[in-house]
Amino acid sequence: MNIIFLGAPGVGKGTYTSRVKEKYSIPHISTGDIFRGNIKNNTLLGKEAKGYMDKGQLVPDEVTINMVKDRLSQDDVKDGYILDGFPRTIAQAEALKEFSKVDIAVNFAARDDVIIQRLSGRRICRKCGAIFHVKNIPPKTEGVCDKCGGEIYQRDDDKPEAIKKRLEVYKKQTSPLIDYYKEGGNLIVVDANSEDIDSIIKNLVERLDSTRKSA
Ligand code: ADP
Ligand code: ZN
Repeated sequence: MNIIFLGAPGVGKGTYTSRVKEKYSIPHISTGDIFRGNIKNNTLLGKEAKGYMDKGQLVPDEVTINMVKDRLSQDDVKDGYILDGFPRTIAQAEALKEFSKVDIAVNFAARDDVIIQRLSGRRICRKCGAIFHVKNIPPKTEGVCDKCGGEIYQRDDDKPEAIKKRLEVYKKQTSPLIDYYKEGGNLIVVDANSEDIDSIIKNLVERLDSTRKSA
């Protein structure tokens, strides 16, 4: 089953994926994580992406599309994948169609004030990438990852100026994908306003399972 996760930055896509990927035992592919991994390892791709990311802009389509195409050509995705953070533009969706078939597109919907609250409180483990939130998912010890003991930090693009820019970019370039996949007939909408992550996951899993059965 090839699944893509749509939704504004900060709506919780990464958190939900990390919770459902075991259930379906398919890989979780996050373009943001791949870019951050490249930045950490100081690769050429990382150097190119960083300038855009810190400003809250999208990395150019060509770079991003090639990166995803390459990732989806690997063996581990033959039974499916959850793609989180891609596509983010119509051009990316059109390109994806050429090299992979999307079975289900999930749109996580939440109000602007909810999104801003999530982004500004988000914290990430530098070592394993686990996602926390100062209020909603606090680590047991402040500044320390529950899972691996790594240091927890705030992403540069989770600071107020970049957040504003990312939401603008989302509205303009990414939100048209909701209609794009609706017209394609494989869109599911999941309400992500609640702070009760378990209930969002439960709803998501029910919807995915029933869509899978009817497919
Ligand atoms: P979020 O969903 O919280 O915005 P991500 O980790 O998905 O965070 O993405 C962080 C940044 O990485 C984006 O703001 C953008 O600069 C870059 N990026 C990730 N995915 C894409 C993509 N599909 N196309 C272009 N840029 C991307
Ligand atoms: Zn960690």
